Amino acid sequence: MSSRRTFIATSFAAAVGAVAGYFTGKPGNETPHQERIAEDSSTSNSPPAEVYKKGLVISTWYHGLVANAAAQEVIAKGGRAVDAAQQGVMIVEEDPTGTSVGLGGAPDREGKVTLDACIMDDKGNAGAVCFMEDILHPISVARKVMDDTPHVMLAGEGARQFAIESGMDTVNLLTPESKLLWEEWLVTSQYKPIINVENHDTIGLVAIDLEGNLGGACTTSGLGYKMRGRVGDSPIIGAGLYVDNEVGAATATGLGEAVMKTCGTFLIVELMRQGASPQEACEEAVTRICEKQDYADFQIGYIAVNKAGEVGSYAIHKGFNYAITKDGKDLGMVNVGSYSSD
Ligand code: ASP
Repeated sequence: MSSRRTFIATSFAAAVGAVAGYFTGKPGNETPHQERIAEDSSTSNSPPAEVYKKGLVISTWYHGLVANAAAQEVIAKGGRAVDAAQQGVMIVEEDPTGTSVGLGGAPDREGKVTLDACIMDDKGNAGAVCFMEDILHPISVARKVMDDTPHVMLAGEGARQFAIESGMDTVNLLTPESKLLWEEWLVTSQYKPIINVENHDTIGLVAIDLEGNLGGACTTSGLGYKMRGRVGDSPIIGAGLYVDNEVGAATATGLGEAVMKTCGTFLIVELMRQGASPQEACEEAVTRICEKQDYADFQIGYIAVNKAGEVGSYAIHKGFNYAITKDGKDLGMVNVGSYSSD
């Protein structure tokens, strides 16, 4: 039996365990979501191509609904998961009403919008940009770093310059609305990460295409009113996003510092490699943070998918959700279980 087949068999065994009520996270927090995913998983015991004939897309927060729709369109036409992920998150990057991604994103303390993004494909290729200003689609710059340079990450002015040289226009990302909010913030200038304020933080999206290949993208304007130069987890491969086509993919939202200190998405994929279901892996990654840090004042949310198309998710606090499109159907939002019962 090939190692991939062994993995699939293991993951389905884990799914059956989930149906029987086996969860590694804090007991008593099982949610309808977990039951629903467990039911879904229990109905399938075939290879990915048989299970997900029309692809699978999951992405963080409510803005995931529009992102998934765009990603699914790419998948339905036979496109690659990485292209689907890029196209999906671009919709959110260009939406001026979102205050945590791309255009209209909350600026740093000095009133400058700085963007972070990364992308990964099924071949293990990766690209990223961080601390980049004035460019509407940081994910497309990350893609170009991946495709057209020998590097993985470009930062700050270098990333901006690369984007311009690649033919992208500069734009003012600070909308009048986000400028006003920043000016209000300046009155107190108190920096405090806030949990789930408006339910539209970083967009992280992972997908499986019709070939059964994986891809993912993650993009953000980062924490509102951050220190100038601060970079979070979202552009860091293995923190905000990780994809291993043999195993699975995961993405993160929430306080980037906590994700970076635990290599969150790399950890989730490695746990899945060792046989954990996506649900078990997400729960373990959240638990590791909560056991070492005082988590009362910040949120982390993870979503993950394995090669078999099973989905998992977990958060520190209640309120995190994600959008799911499966077998070509928009299944709407899923509320995620949490470590903390507060
Ligand atoms: N993870 C992002 C960061 O730390 C923020 C978020 O998801 O809200 O920059």
